[in-house]
Amino acid sequence: MNQQQETWPSLWQEIANLIAELADVPVALIMRKKDNSMEVIVRSNNTEDNPYHLGDEEALCHDLYCHHVIQTDSPLLIQNALKLDKWKNTPDIKLGMISYYGLPIHLPDGESFGTFCILDRKERHFDEKFQRLMQLLVNSIESSLAIHSENNKLSKELQQHEHYNALTNLPTQSLGQLKYSHKDALNLSILFIRNIQAFDIRDNLGLVDAQRLAQEFYSQVKLCVPNGVEIYYISNSELILVHSTSSPDTLAGETETLACLLRELFSSPLELDGKKITVPVSIGCAFSYNNEHRFEEVLDMATVACTQGSQSGKTFHIFNPEQQKLRQHHYEVTQQFPNAFVNSEFYLNFQPIISAETNKIVGCEALVRWNNAQLGMVYPDEFIPLAEKCGAMAQLGDWILDQALSDLKRWAIDHNPDFYISINISSTQFNQDDFTDKVKAKLQQYQISPNNILLEMTETALLHNQKQVMKHCQELSQLGIKIALDDFGTGFSSLSHLHDFPIDIVKIDKSFIFSLNTSKKSEQLVKGILSLGKMLDLKVVAEGVESLDVCQNLKSLRCDFMQGYYWDRPLSSEDFESTYINRND
Ligand code: C2E
Ligand code: CA
Ligand code: CA
Repeated sequence: MNQQQETWPSLWQEIANLIAELADVPVALIMRKKDNSMEVIVRSNNTEDNPYHLGDEEALCHDLYCHHVIQTDSPLLIQNALKLDKWKNTPDIKLGMISYYGLPIHLPDGESFGTFCILDRKERHFDEKFQRLMQLLVNSIESSLAIHSENNKLSKELQQHEHYNALTNLPTQSLGQLKYSHKDALNLSILFIRNIQAFDIRDNLGLVDAQRLAQEFYSQVKLCVPNGVEIYYISNSELILVHSTSSPDTLAGETETLACLLRELFSSPLELDGKKITVPVSIGCAFSYNNEHRFEEVLDMATVACTQGSQSGKTFHIFNPEQQKLRQHHYEVTQQFPNAFVNSEFYLNFQPIISAETNKIVGCEALVRWNNAQLGMVYPDEFIPLAEKCGAMAQLGDWILDQALSDLKRWAIDHNPDFYISINISSTQFNQDDFTDKVKAKLQQYQISPNNILLEMTETALLHNQKQVMKHCQELSQLGIKIALDDFGTGFSSLSHLHDFPIDIVKIDKSFIFSLNTSKKSEQLVKGILSLGKMLDLKVVAEGVESLDVCQNLKSLRCDFMQGYYWDRPLSSEDFESTYINRND
């Protein structure tokens, strides 16, 4: 610590001023003894002619009044130094101070701390009463010094506590932050290491053994890390390694070598009481060249890289800013869900489905849209999976079902009794016990025939909870509701699913339709699905038809229905109604 910044009890200033006034002297000082000098730490400031300044230092030498006090450990009274040969060279005479009275100040352990003294430009005699008063003031200085040292010790301990982890005795990242905030032109890499099974391990071993394992985890890392690389504690299952160099060229290579060492280390199990315990880790890495990022920023990037890596099953992952942007967006989307419901930001679009045989519309697919006040348009490919993940899908699914049926009711499709609305159902919805009852209730509420709705599900949804999905599919089918298997060809596309589940329609994924006329493989696959449909008596919808060529090809292959931008993009309820429902052809 910079000593000039050290603060002393405020009482000391008052004592110095008071005694200077009482004794009518220009100077009262509290001096601290340092290794080879005495330093002024308090000076009376109630007279203008005090020539001593805070921080002034005088080398310890025999000519110094204070040195004598320290050495003899007793008070010293000099009435007139000019009359004594011994003091003729004292530095204080140069400042005009010829009389002196000083006493030693002790630390709580009895060691010497410094002196308390008064000086004057004229000959002075300080009587016994006055000397007694000075001693009492020194006693008071010493008591406050004891409290001051105790406080200092405590705050140092607190600092130690704040910057070191008790379990591992490792410095925490706050110390790294302090240390690296002052370094210039720094090239820095941080490896963030996380035990990705920490919770499982803790649940199985119990807290005490899990903590012992954490200690083992840290000591193994300490052993394997080369000199110069620093380790900081983050949590019982996370630590960071910080590597800094002045030369940017070697940083990446050295960091990767370090990561290799760690991967090798954790490829073997750790031992606890003779038991071998595998500790799978994810290592995230981030760099900062020439102080481009602050320490905390590199740490955040390395943390994100660690999560990115473990989510994609990689042990070592370097921070990817694009991935981070996407995650950030996903996070904001998730945060906005509650507002979306409150502000009614969701709405449905509808895309026509056309009969290949008659070229007429047979129905439409309801596709949800979200225009958020802060994020703008958010597309379902992003928000549906997030809604599933954060538990908002059931509520959203209920809203979609309700809205689709209410639009259908409003369109009044009496002139086309077979017209259907195709609604995408997510796996969360199929997992609700009362899903079929909800659909039934909605059909009743809007007085819609089961014949006029079709529910689309993906194979992934079907696989999620086969028993429950099967139960709902059978009940829905018995009600007369048709079921379509969406995105066919992209997932497992298992024949047994088509056979076991009461499926009426297969929708060929648009990726195969896009390349139908350019890729032999896509053509073969589409042909295969179409003949499978014929065999199993299923209708087939091709989605993603964007051109006349593809439309004609599908017709020649005897596909049943088609959907795509060639006819229309998904339209608002009003546009769909005016374009396709109220047409008089
Ligand atoms: P999906 O069910 O396969 O929907 C078809 C997607 O293809 C829609 O994208 C549609 O706009 C798009 N599409 C249709 N024709 C063409 C075309 O000719 N060319 C191209 N490039 N694209 C075409 P959208 O609306 O962005 O939906 C994406 C996915 O989001 C849907 O894929 C579905 O999985 C999900 N989704 C959309 N709406 C809902 C919904 O209401 N509920 C649920 N659970 N999922 C939905
Ligand atoms: Ca669909
Ligand atoms: Ca699809």
